[in-house]
Amino acid sequence: GIVGPGSWSLHRRAIQALVGGVNSPSRGLEAVGGGAPPYIARADGAYLFDVDGRAYVDYVQAFGALILGHARPDLREAVVRALERGVLFGACHEMEVRLAERLQVVMGAMCERVRFTASGTEAVMTAVRLARAATGRRLLVKFAGSYHGHFDAVLVGAGSGASTLGLDESAGIPDGVKADVATLPYNDAETAERFLRERGDEVACVLVEPIVGNFGLVEPEPGFLQRLARAARRAGALVIFDEVITAFRFGPGPVYPQLGVEPDLITFGKILGGGLPIGGYGGRRAIMEQVAPVGPVYQDGTWAGHPLSMASALATLEILTAETDLYPRLGRLGQALAQGVRDLAARHGVPVVVHQRGGAVCAFFTREPEVRDFGGVQRSDARAFATFFRSMLARGILLPPSPYEVWYVSAAHGEEEIDKTLQAIDRAMADVARAA
Ligand code: PMP
Repeated sequence: GIVGPGSWSLHRRAIQALVGGVNSPSRGLEAVGGGAPPYIARADGAYLFDVDGRAYVDYVQAFGALILGHARPDLREAVVRALERGVLFGACHEMEVRLAERLQVVMGAMCERVRFTASGTEAVMTAVRLARAATGRRLLVKFAGSYHGHFDAVLVGAGSGASTLGLDESAGIPDGVKADVATLPYNDAETAERFLRERGDEVACVLVEPIVGNFGLVEPEPGFLQRLARAARRAGALVIFDEVITAFRFGPGPVYPQLGVEPDLITFGKILGGGLPIGGYGGRRAIMEQVAPVGPVYQDGTWAGHPLSMASALATLEILTAETDLYPRLGRLGQALAQGVRDLAARHGVPVVVHQRGGAVCAFFTREPEVRDFGGVQRSDARAFATFFRSMLARGILLPPSPYEVWYVSAAHGEEEIDKTLQAIDRAMADVARAA
């Protein structure tokens, strides 16, 4: 096997106790040939160490939740200090206020008022409810293959984990919920404009990742988001940018200012929590004050504003804004990795399309000249990816176990890790070429 006896032993126990052996289907190896995944005992910097003592350069980075790498001492210190003051108060506290004030600065108008949740799913779920309340309309417009969490409405036509398992969408979603969701092709401004022209008066909101991070990394084509936002506004619908993946990934704030379009509501999570669970949504005061206790849109949560998450988020934000070379450095490493993949694939005659922005990289094994939507991703060669994944894992490089996920370089990665990765890619591309 590609992992050791300790991982196999835990895997055999896991499948007898946890459904499918996992707590999140994204973590299993079903999409890449199956078998035991590495069971992790310890994480440090750019590395994960499994129960058999094998080290892996980690490009999963907790599915994009981490950007500083694992177990950073100054971040751990901040969480330990908070832990010493108690774990959970179930009451108001200073750190949630300080974090909201910091977000007013780094998120600008999109956090005039903000609400923290325990996960990205909860943030998106409430943002959609808020948009429906604010407009008095029912229809949610989203894009094929885009993942926005695991509540019913957004699993209609969802990607990520579901598409990895070959599911168009989850079972158990009532027809009534499906009737209130429309799924359009990404990067197709004309179709979106036509839909909003014809059915715009039913549309509460358009929910979109401004840069897709859930069927690989796919950027919006020039004008797509602008035309989408204009058509939505003309129809009186709200625009929600789901920045659960993209916020703090390409700079110490949301990505939308880099793209030149402003939404009405924003959702975020992942990186901000510094490894602890977090989510949140924000917008201008007028719309946000429709949320309880000021307004009639209800949302709460036992874990919302968790003191440890707030402490971790404050420390994370401080590091992301203080280390001015962090994002440029991630960009350089990401570029080196992406170019390496292109060069090595070419050397072995393996057709790939590689996308990269900052430290986010993904490779599609495809003969098509470009990948611009979910269809393009689905037509890529999943078997070639599986061969590649297994070859990389055997060489101590952990990629996300799905052709739909993005590889993340963290601030803990250095040239040494990239070099080691490129050596493994050279061998893995040879394996892909041989298997073709
Ligand atoms: N939206 C997007 C864009 C995401 O990538 C994710 C998680 N992958 C979510 C929402 C859901 O976040 P969480 O897993 O924290 O519920």
